[in-house]
Amino acid sequence: MTVRLDIIGSSPAWPNPGGACSGYLVEGRLLLDCGPGVLAKLRERPGTDGWPDVEAIAITHLHLDHWGDLVPWVWGSLFGPGAEHPKPELRLPPGARAALLPILAQLGGEDMLERAFEVDEYESGRPFELAGLTLTALPVVHYTIPAFGFRVVGERTLAYSGDTGPCNELLELAQGADLFLCEATLDDPDSDGPRRGHLSADEARAAGGGSGTRRLVLTHRPDERTAPPGIELAHDGLELSF
Ligand SMILES: [Zn+2]
Repeated sequence: MTVRLDIIGSSPAWPNPGGACSGYLVEGRLLLDCGPGVLAKLRERPGTDGWPDVEAIAITHLHLDHWGDLVPWVWGSLFGPGAEHPKPELRLPPGARAALLPILAQLGGEDMLERAFEVDEYESGRPFELAGLTLTALPVVHYTIPAFGFRVVGERTLAYSGDTGPCNELLELAQGADLFLCEATLDDPDSDGPRRGHLSADEARAAGGGSGTRRLVLTHRPDERTAPPGIELAHDGLELSF
């Protein structure tokens, strides 16, 4: 058995031309991150009746390019075609509900996420079940904010870095994974902050090699920054089996 991974959005913190920010669909039912542009891409997928049949969504961290489309998802669920669909489960990082309250109060109401999703927070390092898969969120290094990568275990093992700088946790996350979807935002590691938050393509490749992952796919990379030869690079609409 193989597992399917659809790249819905692969842009960095700003959209590549015509692109969506972070969104990765596992087995057609589990969405990892939901950045701006992801909902529109999901809605136009073949076989979708105008609204995504996603069972669950898991968010790596609270930078907007990883969760921003939850807001229009709420409105479409309450007042649009999403009203005909069951509420997806939504798993947020620890502490995220409290952190989002003042923001959501301005965007539409403190309880707006609960109106559209079955909301809960995951715990760092503790496996949890979601959409028939087992996820473990491990903390990674992303400037000063809490951020996580996901290890998703089903018929195969997928590791998704979220946004991260180099760290040992990333190697643990990707250890022996069948597919390692790893961010590679930077051209030059020296352009990152003194506290690291992203990876260069070479750093991502080193993490893939150091963790013994079987297949490395880079993402979260600006179109203007080419990938080194011989490395797989995600793009919106890419369908992967592993
Ligand atoms: Zn980020």
